[in-house]
This record gives sequence, C-alpha cells and structure tokens, in this order.
Amino acid sequence: MSVEQKNSNEKPRQNPYSGIIFGIILLLLLNGLVMPRLAEQRIIDTDYGTFIDKVEEGKVKQVRMEENRVFFSALNDEGEDEVYQTGIVNDPELVDRLLNAESPNESGGIIFTKTIPRESSPIINFLLLWVLPGVIFYLIWRQMSKSIQGRLGGGGNVMSFGKSGAKIYADSDIDTTFADVAGQDEAKEALNEIVDFLHHPDKYTKVGASLPKGALLVGPPGTGKTLIARAVAGEAKVPFFSISGSEFVQMFVGMGAAKVRDLFKQATEKAPCIIFIDEIDAIGKKRDSMSSNDEREQTLNQLLTEMDGFDGRKGVVILAATNRPESLDNALLRPGRFDRRIQMELPDLQGRKAILSVHLQKVQHEEIDIDLVARATAGSSGAQLANIVNEAALRAVRLGRDKVTTHDLEESVEVVIAGAQKKGMVISEEEKKIIAYHEIGHAMVAAKQTHSAPVHKITIIPRTSGALGYTMQIDSGEQYLMSRDDIFNRITTLTGGRAAEEIICNTVTTGASNDIERATKMARAMVTRYGMSDKYGMMALETVNNAYLGGDTSLACSDETAADIDKEVHRIINEAHDKARQIIRDNLDKMHETTGFLLEKETITGEEFMQILNDERDR
Ligand code: ADP
Ligand code: MG
Ligand code: ZN
Repeated sequence: MSVEQKNSNEKPRQNPYSGIIFGIILLLLLNGLVMPRLAEQRIIDTDYGTFIDKVEEGKVKQVRMEENRVFFSALNDEGEDEVYQTGIVNDPELVDRLLNAESPNESGGIIFTKTIPRESSPIINFLLLWVLPGVIFYLIWRQMSKSIQGRLGGGGNVMSFGKSGAKIYADSDIDTTFADVAGQDEAKEALNEIVDFLHHPDKYTKVGASLPKGALLVGPPGTGKTLIARAVAGEAKVPFFSISGSEFVQMFVGMGAAKVRDLFKQATEKAPCIIFIDEIDAIGKKRDSMSSNDEREQTLNQLLTEMDGFDGRKGVVILAATNRPESLDNALLRPGRFDRRIQMELPDLQGRKAILSVHLQKVQHEEIDIDLVARATAGSSGAQLANIVNEAALRAVRLGRDKVTTHDLEESVEVVIAGAQKKGMVISEEEKKIIAYHEIGHAMVAAKQTHSAPVHKITIIPRTSGALGYTMQIDSGEQYLMSRDDIFNRITTLTGGRAAEEIICNTVTTGASNDIERATKMARAMVTRYGMSDKYGMMALETVNNAYLGGDTSLACSDETAADIDKEVHRIINEAHDKARQIIRDNLDKMHETTGFLLEKETITGEEFMQILNDERDR
C-alpha cells in the first residue's frame, strides 16, 4: 500500500481549472506592468493637421510623443486646457517646429518629451514567453491525467514515467501473530518454516539449503489469507511490504513493471523482509493468445524476472494470495517461484469454534454456547464469523446491554444469513397462512426423515434478503461426507415447502423459487459430479471452474448426454417431491397444529416444534 496514494485520496479534490485560472490572472498582472498606463483624463482625438495648426498658433503647452501617437495639451478655442491625441506622421521637421513655436507656457517654449518605449524586463519577458505557458500546460495536463486516472480507478502518480512514482512503504512493526489466526494449523505449520528461516538464515545457509522463494496462499475469500501473511511478518519481526495485485496494473504500459522493479529494489535493501502480493490473479492471469493486455503481461514478466533474479538466501520471502488459483499463469507456479502452495480452507466445526473464540476475546460477553453458534454457521468463512461476532456486539449495544449473549450471536447469524428482520412489511392473513404452511412443510419433512439435521428454528418474520420466512436446520456435528441418501433427503426437505402449499392450501406460489433452485443444483451435482446416478455411474460430466468463488460449472459431455442428464435430474426431483407429499399427507393433523402455533408466535424453536409432534404421538 503506498502512502502517497492514501494521502491523495484524503485530499479534497482540487478544482481542475484552478491552475488555468491562476495562469490567466498572472498573465493579466504582468500585462499591466508592461502596458503604458494611460492618463485618466478626457483625451480628444484629433488629426495631425490640427496639431500642427495649434503648434503654429502657439496654443500648445506640452507634447508627449509615444511610439505610435502623440499626446499634447493645448488651449482650445475657448482658451481652456484640453488634452488631445493624434496619430504619428513621419515628420522630420516636427522637432524644429516645436522648438520654434510659441507657447502659453511661462517659459515661452513647448515642453516636449518622447517616452522611452518601456521595454519589459528580460526576466519578465522570459517568464512570460517560456515559463508561464509551460506552467499552464503542466497544470492542465496534470489535472487532466489525474481525472482520467481517477475515472479508471487507478491511483498513483502518472507524472513520472521512469519510475513507478508511488513509493511502497514497508510496515516494520506488525503486531499480528499466529495467535490471531485461529485454526488453519496446516498453513501455520508450513509458514513456520519461513518464519524460522527469517529468524536464523545462517542455520539454513550452513547446510546449503535455500528456502522456497515464494509461497502462494490459496483459498476462498475470507479464510484469513491476508491475515496469516501479516502474521508471518509479525512473527518474524521483519519489514512487510504489502501491495495488492491490482496496484500494479496502471494506465500506461510499462508502469506496472516499473513498480515491480521498484518494489524488489526496495525489498532487497531491507532484507530480510517479506513481500506480500495480495490478489495476485490481477496480474498473474494466464497469458493466452485470445486476449492480450500488454500492461498486465509486462508486469507479470517483470515479476517473473525479478523472482528469478534475486538471491533466495538473502532473506526476501514472497507471499502471494489468491482465490482463483486455476487462473494463474503456469510460469508463476513453477519451482523457484511460487513453488509452495498453502491451502486455506473454510473452517470446520473446530476451526469455527476457535475463530469465534478469538473474536469473542475482543468483546465483552457472558457465558457463550460457542458449540451451538459454530454448528449454526456451517460453511461460513472466518471473515463471516468475525462479522457475526461484531453484529452481535452491535445488537447488544442497541438493546442497551454491556455484554454479548448467545442469543445475540444466534440473531446475528440469522442477520448474516438471511438479512435483518423487515418489521414494517404488511402481509395479509391469507399469505401469512401460506408462508406458515410452507415453512412447516419443510420442517415436517425434515423431522420425519432419518439422518436429516434437526430443525432449530422456524420463523415467518420477513427478512431484508427477501425471504418471507425460513426454517433453520442445524447439524449436530460436522459432516464431511454425504451419502446418496443424505443428499436425496435434503432435496426432499427442500420440496417439502411446495408440497405443503399444494396439499393444504391448494395453490402453488413463487415462495418456492429458492427451494427449487437449490434442489435442482443438488440433483444435478448428484448426476454429473458425484457419480450417484445408475445410468452414468462414475463418469464426470461436469467440471467446476471456480472452486473458491461460487463454483460455477461447465458441462463436459455431448448434447445427447446433456439432455439425458436433464431427464435424470427431473426424475430425482420428482421422486423427492412425491416423497415429501406423502409425508405431508400422512401428518396432516400435526401440520395444522404446528402451523397454528407458528402463526400465533411467528417464531418457534425446533424444540417447541418437536414437542408438539411428540405430544401428538403420545396421545
Ligand atoms: P482473505 O484474505 O482470505 O480474503 P482476510 O485475511 O482478509 O481473508 O480475512 C478477513 C477477516 O476475517 C480477518 O481480518 C479476520 O478478522 C477474519 N478471519 C479470517 N480468518 C480468520 C481466522 N482463521 N482466524 C481469525 N480471524 C479470521
Ligand atoms: Mg485478502
Ligand atoms: Zn421454502
């Protein structure tokens, strides 16, 4: 991160025209100095003949000759003083005439002068002709290029072509340590070696070992890649050069490369130290013949050259982070460059507990059921967990408490997952009923199937995310494998909402759209990726493109197979839907009873729901 850029961001934006206006004002001032100042008297224009006549008549008192005109004061016909001006005529005898002429002056003769043409001083001339235009153009250019840069979203200083301009400052006292990074033990272990190397380089050089020059941190967003890179610097107590890949991509070709050069030059001076390139995919994308981006490729080439060029034993370690490892150029990944790859995965149950504990240390809290919160946040990243703790603290403050409770955390989990409660929304009784049956439908189907996560909460309070209600299930533990039955049960649970609408309310609504989407995705994955269809068995029919960012897929099969896959997916979903309908039909009484309870309370817990179910069974 460059400090200069930070400063320029904080500076209020200058008026882009201020430079120009300043220049113009300066011009006017200088002109005032050079131009003769005219008498602020009424001056009568007259012709040369009249002038000569007046001279000969002896009425002229004073004459002042200038470069291209003559001013003279004379008596007019009424005998009053007047000032006249006339153009100059080539009249060699004028001086004689003036000398010989009479005048009303006491001395008798006409007082006449010729003004020395006022030459502007050479310095002012120089300034005017050479410096000022230069300054004006400079100002205009700077303003223009600044605003272009601003529009392109880039920062930095465009003026200096030779150097990258923006200076990269090393952060030398980082207080983040491995203790701040919860879980991720494998990553810490891998990075510990680097820390040790930075502490005792001689230990390694003695044996002749040179450490990997670079390590690439790979993982989904929010898993703590940036955090752990800082922690390495904090543990090793060495300067930390941190720069984001996008900062290298500049407007002009060659500037990013210059910046890379600068960075490595500064880093070698400060060795041992750590260079951290965040989001390296911005410059490290695969080079291909399809699209070419000169600036990016030059920057990448420069980076490759620099990485080859410096001596690994000096103690400069390069860390980089990305969440799109598959898009990186192979040249970056070959031995001698980023040859070590450190995987940062989404935290599992233990990891989530650890992360929650780390962040709970920063807030005042009561006894917290961390296990419950960790189970409720399956699939959340470290960043999301940090956010959940903070939301909970905000909620506690809002409610006037000074300690965070488990309930605050549960609520903020929901806020993060489903958005805040939307209190003002008015929903008609009829719609409310459909929503309630829909949600109870999900809960009922989930409860009546084996191996499905227990229902934790059912609510029909609308959320800002657009959800009109939802059923929350929380697994009792962490599940790493899902069997075919597990997935099928999940699909069945998802179809439960619609099944309840159909059977009880005799209608179908748009409320099931999200369920449909998710059910279809799961069923498709069963067929194409998990090898769970009888027809295709273990054949891979789809590839995942962006594992860490959404995970979009592309089909890798013929069109006929694609059509067949659709049929298979259709079959699975229909089967699940039928099963859900059957469950609802078998439990109609309980459906009505629990829905009545939900409509009354708007939010019920899984325990309350199960109590009603079990009560009925006992009777
Ligand atoms: P990434 O760079 O992988 O996208 P960050 O390192 O920027 O993620 O993480 C963002 C925030 O999430 C961190 O500042 C930290 O508060 C929190 N966080 C993420 N992972 C962890 C973890 N393992 N332990 C503690 N906090 C974490
Ligand atoms: Mg990051
Ligand atoms: Zn639903």
